Amino acid sequence: MEQKQFQAESKRLLEMMVHSIYSQKEIFLRELISNASDAIDKIYYKALTDDSISFNKDDYYIRIEADKEERTLTVKDTGIGMTKEELEDNLGTIAKSGSLAFKNEVEMKDGQEIIGQFGVGFYSSFMVADKVTVFTRALHSEEGYKWQSDGEEGYTIESYNKEDVGTEIIIQLKENADEENYDEYLEEYKLKSIIKKYSDFIRYPIKMDVTEQHPQEDNEEETVEVTEEQTINSMVPIWRKNKQELSDEDYEAFYQEKHFGFDKPLSHLHISVDGMVRFQSILYIPEQLPFNYYSQDFEKGLELYSNGVLIMDKCADLLPDHFSFVRGIVDSEDLSLNISREILQQDRQVNLIAKNIEKKVKNHLQSMLKNDREKYEKFYEAFGRQIKFGVYNDFGANKEKLQDLLLFYSSSEEKLVSLKEYVERMPEDQEHIYYATGESHDRIEKLPQTEMVKDKGYEILYFTDEVDEFAIKMLVKYDDKEFKNVSSGDLDLEDEETKKEAEKQKEEHKDLLTEMKEILGNKVKDVKLSTRLKSHPVCLSAEGDVSIEMEKVLKQMPD
Ligand code: ADP
Ligand code: MG
Repeated sequence: MEQKQFQAESKRLLEMMVHSIYSQKEIFLRELISNASDAIDKIYYKALTDDSISFNKDDYYIRIEADKEERTLTVKDTGIGMTKEELEDNLGTIAKSGSLAFKNEVEMKDGQEIIGQFGVGFYSSFMVADKVTVFTRALHSEEGYKWQSDGEEGYTIESYNKEDVGTEIIIQLKENADEENYDEYLEEYKLKSIIKKYSDFIRYPIKMDVTEQHPQEDNEEETVEVTEEQTINSMVPIWRKNKQELSDEDYEAFYQEKHFGFDKPLSHLHISVDGMVRFQSILYIPEQLPFNYYSQDFEKGLELYSNGVLIMDKCADLLPDHFSFVRGIVDSEDLSLNISREILQQDRQVNLIAKNIEKKVKNHLQSMLKNDREKYEKFYEAFGRQIKFGVYNDFGANKEKLQDLLLFYSSSEEKLVSLKEYVERMPEDQEHIYYATGESHDRIEKLPQTEMVKDKGYEILYFTDEVDEFAIKMLVKYDDKEFKNVSSGDLDLEDEETKKEAEKQKEEHKDLLTEMKEILGNKVKDVKLSTRLKSHPVCLSAEGDVSIEMEKVLKQMPD
């Protein structure tokens, strides 16, 4: 028997694992079942290219066994098993995923259902276990091994005579403590509910002995206890099910099972289209911004299935950039299975689906804005910038589509408002949509240039995000009302009398203005008298199309 220590980093990760990564202990079962399913999938993929392996679906399953006396829970699979090296590599090192390596190694064109990738799931079993024992025998291998660990210091490995290929994981449950009752993981109803909750769409049967009361044959009044093996999961993918049969929890569970995010989805859409192109789709708007969302690393895309088989795990063409935050799956029977990735990218069907999805997502957001403002603002807080980038990019090609999804902070409402709301409130004599730019609401509040516009009773939109003004410049107008920066030179808000008076003053103070300009030199373009100021002596204003704030941004950009 060999005794090995976990690596130092692994030990620390393990601590974290057991104490903080997962909020619920019960997910250990989801992780073990996912691994078992991956292990079976691996044989399936090998069989696709290796004639010596036959894949007879009935031979592949996952079995859960609870032993109340021993207080052990066993997860068995008939999957690909592990060699001694794989045991050491994959179970001896945390954050090492054999499944990820497998995915990279085997070219999987017509299926990438393998779930594992992070290399931590297995260790979640130590949230409920004092000791974990793994018996395994790899495909094409005569030998089997036994791996055992208490999840603290290290593990042991020894040879073990295992009859069949596959893996058996035995969890020795922890002693019950004050708030924790580990015995419940031995209860049939509990196990069933965890399996249903997290692993219902696992493609292989998850079997378990279930005891039920059956009426006696000769005497219907009396019942007998019958124990028989049942398949607990429904195996049918969620998107093939009827919307009416599914609850919010079902959608949330799927989001988690798919590892779309560590958050809960803010909202979901379940689409079934039966027109020019047929497809089913479940889409999610995440609640939280992925940590790398506004960086180069972020990859958009949806999982694309053809007839229930995954063919691409991030099909970017299915999502426009301005909706890149959407996560989810698309399944279409109209895609041909042996299509190669390159062809797929220009696939007409994919384009049709993408168009349809874009429209559906837009409508979904629009109705969220209308019917659940709070939720929409939550969404906007995380992903609003992306919508603005969407308006700005493509030279405003998306503006019609996206302009009604925009929100800006308003001077008079003191909250986020839409352009539609702004325009509907405009006093009759107001011609333009006014905005002011600055670092913060406070700063903008203090801008001398806002005073006169506010005095007129006009609402001002506050732009604090660099992209705001750029986006608005692309829109040019909303509902035929032009956007005007309160700081720009030609606001044209004065009445005739004031204008005349200004002309006069300009003449009178000509020399003073020239003098000031000379002193300031080329720090300014011109010095002018302004009729716009009330309680402030002076303000800076920009001429032409580029505002001072925009100039700042443009200066920061690399040439
Ligand atoms: P992940 O599933 O994200 O890769 P895990 O910690 O759940 O990470 O598992 C680590 C690795 O251990 C897997 O990638 C796989 O190579 C191996 N493994 C775990 N369970 C099994 C199993 N039942 N059969 C075969 N290999 C397994
Ligand atoms: Mg896993």
